[in-house]
This record gives sequence, structure tokens and C-alpha cells, in this order.
Amino acid sequence: MFCWYYGGQIPTQFYLILTTEEAVTGSKASSYYQKIVTTLLFEIRLFSNASYGYPAKIGNCGTGTVLTIISGGPPPSIWSVVMNLRRPNANEATGTVNRSRDVVPMSGICTRCMDGCKGNCEIWLSSFRGREVLYPGPFGEITTGADKNYPIDYSHLNIQGYAVGAKGLPEGIDIGPDTAVFSAVNTETEYGWGRNVKMRLPIFTGALGSTEIARVNWEHFAVGAAISGITIVCGENVCGVDPGLRLDSKGKVVESPEMDRRITTYRKFHEGYGEMLVQMNVEDTRLGTAEYVASKHNLDTIELKWGQGAKCIGGETKVKSLERAIELKKRGYIVLPDPLSNETLAAFKSGAIKEFERHSRLGFLTREGFFEEIDRLREIGFKRITLKTGAYSMVELAMALRYGSEARIDLLTIDGAPGGTGMSPWPMMNEWGIPTFYLQSLARDFCEKLLKKGMRVPHLAMAGGFSDEPNVFKALAMGSPYFRAVCMGRGLMIPGMVGKNIERWITTNDLPKSVSKYGTTVEQIFVCYEELREKYGSRISEIPMGAIGIYTYAQRFKTGLQQLMAGSRNFRLSTISRGDLMALTEGASKVSGIPYVMEARYNEAMGVLLD
Ligand code: SF4
Repeated sequence: MFCWYYGGQIPTQFYLILTTEEAVTGSKASSYYQKIVTTLLFEIRLFSNASYGYPAKIGNCGTGTVLTIISGGPPPSIWSVVMNLRRPNANEATGTVNRSRDVVPMSGICTRCMDGCKGNCEIWLSSFRGREVLYPGPFGEITTGADKNYPIDYSHLNIQGYAVGAKGLPEGIDIGPDTAVFSAVNTETEYGWGRNVKMRLPIFTGALGSTEIARVNWEHFAVGAAISGITIVCGENVCGVDPGLRLDSKGKVVESPEMDRRITTYRKFHEGYGEMLVQMNVEDTRLGTAEYVASKHNLDTIELKWGQGAKCIGGETKVKSLERAIELKKRGYIVLPDPLSNETLAAFKSGAIKEFERHSRLGFLTREGFFEEIDRLREIGFKRITLKTGAYSMVELAMALRYGSEARIDLLTIDGAPGGTGMSPWPMMNEWGIPTFYLQSLARDFCEKLLKKGMRVPHLAMAGGFSDEPNVFKALAMGSPYFRAVCMGRGLMIPGMVGKNIERWITTNDLPKSVSKYGTTVEQIFVCYEELREKYGSRISEIPMGAIGIYTYAQRFKTGLQQLMAGSRNFRLSTISRGDLMALTEGASKVSGIPYVMEARYNEAMGVLLD
């Protein structure tokens, strides 16, 4: 809604451009805009200590009206803006808010904290709901991404554009304006140590595991990934939390209807591009998940999980019923509070405890253990083994790259902080781990060192906060030639959920205006529907609308990526290089090694200018 700033200049004016939803006329207009502007001014003051004046025009505003908010004082120093990167103690993620408009930046406590306050900061709520407040909610209905404002991210890079050349067009083509069109850009990628997997786009899903949001949306996500030609990652603990799980006398999986459903749903529309990976953690290994998916489903690829970007403890979910909490505890999970203790039973009975947390264990990595596990999985019959690591320290990153190289793994996904999640502790999400931009810069540097040592580096994917094609382009360019794809968690889940909800709204005749302005039928609403009907014929009825949402988003992503690639004269992904980027800040240049904007291609320019 308004321009924002980082580091550099603080703008002396903001423009508030009203969209259809925000355009209100008549008697309510004045107070409506007063509220928006007051909130806006508060936000601005919060971050910059600047004072800005109310716009002159504040009533009877229609769509597209521009309200100009002008600074009432001198711009604040840059230092005051970047000093604090996150204010704790209140966030929509935890359903909390400060009572006061003035808040101490580091503590997040209101400058005037009142005895008698009726809420609703995190400390206030934690005073009677305790550990519940650690988690974003409501569980099963949301995903969250931490909003700590790390000093450097991919917005500190820009993509070079050129007026000459075209790299990567098929051999023999006469290069010119008629052949080098952006729709001719090839966005296909592949990964693997030898038996490679092709994908139509350089993106794949985050790990959709045992969280409720992954379970209820799986059909949409899986079919959407299959028809879009990308890989889907089935996360950890799916067998372990399956209510229909049957174990043998040794505690190994003999039947998991939920895992069966996940694999068969993806395969129904799989067309040779992308694949389904199943992730394993400590509990999955104990339960024999790998043996089950290999023997029953002949799955090609398994993923070892060391960690993720959102947290540095094991995966977790919430459990609402006492019976289920006891069942999961008996299956070997850590369930807190202990559903078998007398005090927990009493608190659950009285209604004070309404839910339980099911946690996975921490892993303990050793070189020997890793290679033994790789050998075991290859003996079980997996053709490919991938590894996912989190935003751990440099040492664990070095371990992942070095061990991964020696073990000839097929893909290493490196997930930076903060990462998105269906359930992770909110403070941990914000405050742990190496942020994505820094982690990828380190990873690339380590790859160069391994290469110099004569070692082959496995194909890499980056994860942790990606949602659009420009940042995917930047990650592939910055990490070239090692990075083959980007793992996109929440960004690929949203279209699945939007499509699913449109289906529901059509059925209940309850389409919101934001959708119904495009039409009221599936044919009118989804721009790609007829294209899919042409391709799949009568099978179109088997494709859930969430999948159509993912496909439609994938087509937008593809077109946007093709445009960026054509502008930088790259007609296939393998020609994208670090030279296609410039750093907009010296800090980003120092971290990434990408030349600062005033130095990028300077010598070449001087050659043209002065030769
Ligand atoms: S208890 Fe109330 S007044 Fe005190 S910091 Fe929390 S929200 Fe603010």
C-alpha cells in the first residue's frame, strides 16, 4: 500500500494508493481513512522515529486516489532505522498486540505498562496460557513465516539487463529478434548425481509432512505439482502419525493408508517431470518408513533430513485429543505435556490444557552414521538419495557439502532462516540460524573450495523465504553453477489453498467479490482451465481446483522467469551466471561477492568508452 525503505534514504513522503476494497465514499469515508492513515503513521514512526503529517484530502476517496503523506520534520538518521531488527512480545502470528502505541524496541514492552492491563501482548497472554503462546495459531489453519528484518536479503541484488546477445538458444538457430523472444526461453532444470530428474521449472515444494495443513490439502498440492512438472516433498512423520498405521511385532510399518494415499495421488497425474520424495527423520527411521515406501511403492528417491530453516529442533504438531496423544506417545514420540501424568490428566479434564504437542527428536550427526545410513538406503533399493539441511552453523553446512559429495547424493537442499512452517516456535523461528542470503553465499564459497580440492559437488537447491521468480533467478545466478532449483514452501502452498477455497465457495454459492468479479464458474475464474481441459479431456474432473491453482501460479511463474531470463539474454537456465547480478549495497556485495552496482562490469564499460 505504501513505499517502504531500507538502509538508504528515508523518503520525505509516502503515497497511499487506494484499491477497490479501500475506496469508501459517503459519511463513513473520513473516519475510515483517518484509521488507515493513523495506523500507517504509527508504523512509520515505529521504525523511523520520523513524524509525518496527515494528508489534506481525507474524505470521499475513490479507487486509485493517491493520499500523499508528507514528512513533518527532518528525515531520521539511517542508524535509528537499522538499529533494531525485530520487536518481540506482540505479533499477529501469536494473536497478540501491544496495548500502547509506544513500545520499547528491544523488549517489545509498552513504554507505559499498566497494572490492570486487559491485554494483549505475549507476556500478558503467557501469564495464563503459558507455552501455548510459543506457537503461531490456530494450528492446522495457518502457515507462518518469521518477520525479523535481516540486514541483507535478495532485494539487495538487481538483475542485469542487456541490449546485445542471446545465450542458450538451441544450436543452429539464427539468433535475432524473431527467434530470441521471451516465450522461447527454456525454464527446464534437472538434478541428480547420474540418474537425473527433470523439472519443467526450477522450483519444488517444501516438505509437506505430518502437519494438518499438509494432510488436508495434499490432493491439491500433489496433483498441482504433478501437472506442473515439479517435484513434491512429502515431509517427515507421515507414517508415524497416521491413525490407520499398523505395526508389526518389531514396531515396523506394515500398513500406512495415509502414506499410500500420498504416493498414489501424486502418481495419478505424474508425467515424467519432477518426482515425489519422502523425507525421513529419527522416528521414521525407527519405524521403517524407508523400507515400507521402497517395498510397497517402489519409490525411487528418499530424503534424509538434518533440519530446516524454521527451527533447530525436530518436527512437531499439535494434538487435540487425549487418546491420540497417548497413542503417539506409545509409538515413540515425545508428547508434551505428558498425557500419562496425573497432573496433565487433571488439567485436561478441567479444560485448562486443550491440546498436546507431539515432538520429534534431535538428530546426532556423525560421519560414520551418515555413510552407514546411505549404504543401508541404497541396499534397500533407492535409486536416489537427497539430503535436506537447515540454517545450522557453518560447520554443519561444511559437513553437508563434504559428506554429500563423498556419498554422491543427488540433491542437497539448504534451508536458510527464517523459513516457513505449519508449526514451529515463533521466537525460535525469528531468532535462530543463518539467514538464507548469507547461508547461500557461504555454500557457494564452500563449493568453490571443494572443487579446487578436486571434488565434485552435488546439485544444490536453496530454500528459506522464496516466493517469486525474481528472487529465484537471483538465487540461481548467485549460486551458479551449483544451484539447480529453489525449494518454495509457503509460496507454492498458497495457490493450492486458494484454488481449494474457490471450489468450496462455488459449491456454497459464496464467492467473495475479489473472485466473483472475474466470473462465477471455474471456466471463467481460472485462466488456465480450458488449456487443462484440452490436455486432460474428461480427466479434468479428477483434478481438484487447488491443483489448478498451483498450475496457474506455475504458469505465471514461468512467464515471469522467461521475461527476466530473456532480458538478461539467458535462454536456458544453465547460462545464468553471477555476472547477471549487481549488488545494490556494499554489505550485500561483501557477503555474496557479487560486484557493487557502481563496479559491476566497469572495466568492460571503460573498454567500450575509451578504446
Ligand atoms: S501487559 Fe499490557 S500494557 Fe503491559 S506491555 Fe503487555 S500489553 Fe502493554
